[in-house]
Amino acid sequence: MSSGPLLVYFDVDDTLLTWNKRLRPFAREVIASVASAGAEVYLWSGAGVRWEVAYTYDLREFIVDCYEKPLSRHRERLAELGIPHAPDHVVDDDGDIVRAFGGTQVTVPLEPIEDDRALLQVLDDLHTRFGLVLPRPTGWSPPPPSGLHEK
Ligand SMILES: [Mg+2]
Repeated sequence: MSSGPLLVYFDVDDTLLTWNKRLRPFAREVIASVASAGAEVYLWSGAGVRWEVAYTYDLREFIVDCYEKPLSRHRERLAELGIPHAPDHVVDDDGDIVRAFGGTQVTVPLEPIEDDRALLQVLDDLHTRFGLVLPRPTGWSPPPPSGLHEK
């Protein structure tokens, strides 16, 4: 980890966006929370530089930069792709890149998407790994119970 701000890289497809290009629940809230804690937030994607995602989903104010993500030999290819520093924490549905840098592996978003809470794990992981104190998104509530436990 560098001595500067914490560098947090989010994958786009199947991490922040669903298969049909909807923003995953809590994507904006979690990114806003990470940025507000003083970390630098980046987007990267194996499909290229995705600034359109930052603008389309109203994330621009929280994003420092966007890069193309190396799909293999992750660390070795950073310089080749113009990425000036290694991430401290990556958020991705792909396990290989999470193992390469450390981070949070999220499940691919599944229906019913409104019950999806996967991105909230990022807040817990950044707290555990780096001691970052992150505000919980307002409006957060636990997912509905899968079974009935009423008395
Ligand atoms: Mg992905």
